[in-house]
Amino acid sequence: MEFIDLKAQYQASRELINGRIQAVLDHGQYIMGPEVAELEGRLAAYTGAAHCITVASGTEALIISLMALGIAPGDEVITTPFSFIATAEAIVLLGAKPVFADIDVATCNLDPTLIEAKITPRTKAIMPVSLYGQAADMVAINAIATRHKLPVIEDAAQSFGSVYRGKRSCNLSTIGCTSFFPSKPLGCYGDGGAIFTSDDELAQAMREIRVHGQSRRYVHTRIGVGGRMDTLQCAIVLAKLERFEWELVQRNQVAAAYDALLSGRCGLVSRRRDRSSAFAQYTVVLEQRERVQAALHAAHIPTAVHYPVPMHLQPAYAHLCAADQCPVAERMAARVMSLPMGPYLSQLDVREVAATLLKEVDGIEEEAAHRIPAANAA
Ligand SMILES: *Cc1c(COP(=O)(O)O)cnc(C)c1O
Repeated sequence: MEFIDLKAQYQASRELINGRIQAVLDHGQYIMGPEVAELEGRLAAYTGAAHCITVASGTEALIISLMALGIAPGDEVITTPFSFIATAEAIVLLGAKPVFADIDVATCNLDPTLIEAKITPRTKAIMPVSLYGQAADMVAINAIATRHKLPVIEDAAQSFGSVYRGKRSCNLSTIGCTSFFPSKPLGCYGDGGAIFTSDDELAQAMREIRVHGQSRRYVHTRIGVGGRMDTLQCAIVLAKLERFEWELVQRNQVAAAYDALLSGRCGLVSRRRDRSSAFAQYTVVLEQRERVQAALHAAHIPTAVHYPVPMHLQPAYAHLCAADQCPVAERMAARVMSLPMGPYLSQLDVREVAATLLKEVDGIEEEAAHRIPAANAA
């Protein structure tokens, strides 16, 4: 069993992918070839955002967004401590300070009720992450941002394709950023990412920043980066888009099967009724994670922990946030575990994963039940 079965996914779209790759090899425009604009048009239409700018990776998408917003040394950006490190890294790379607001224990996304207390005159943006595939509370976050005249960047690296109150993730705030890292819901076969916005000026700035700040050939009107996504990777995403909606349905069916077997019997990251998930991950919450993980490992069932250490406790970031400021993130970092997930995971595999997991969880509960009377007797 694979944690995410990329080979099965390739086999399902093999002809389309090979054909798209061959077309690029034939026309030879490896950088900014026709597939780049084609993909940007398709993705903008898909999300409903006016603009899509493809970039070299999800990390680059975050960096270019922050650069376009003019984030500079001394500025503060409010974000979640419970994400892949790239979220905070992008902020720190621009010389700004990530200010971590704690997460909601149910969804593991930024808790909007904790944001306002973190706003200072130096705050220049809010950067929520739509973790595991489910959008953060964007309406509440946008309302706070509007009150304080702040832009919102959604780190949607895990949530491309999900819907929040009728709108697609990536089109829920000033800027949305996603990643086409191979294991993300919509992945390429290398690195890639995209930025979405409906703000014409920001879009223009981000297009220029992507190519070294060029407004015209060899005219550099701003400081930029080498941040393009190559034509081959765009071609691969175009091919994979054909089955993407079907794959989202399959992911949701896998999640529904896990839900049916696990809910009420072990902790789960909850999902809100007003939004769907792209199920980048299906994540359970366990009191004795290491033990359950070892049992699954022994049964050759792969698992992963996203993420074992919250960002404010990472060695390079610890000085940015007092150790006790995000107790919920710390609690969840010690308890979350993601199960095999993907559009090609069979119902048989789902049942095997759930049965192995529940056997261990039930064993732990039984032991605890036996220990209590013993302790009372002593
Ligand atoms: C994967 C990921 C990124 C980084 O994307 P890359 O394409 O790997 O650079 C950023 N944020 C989150 C939440 C991610 O999951």
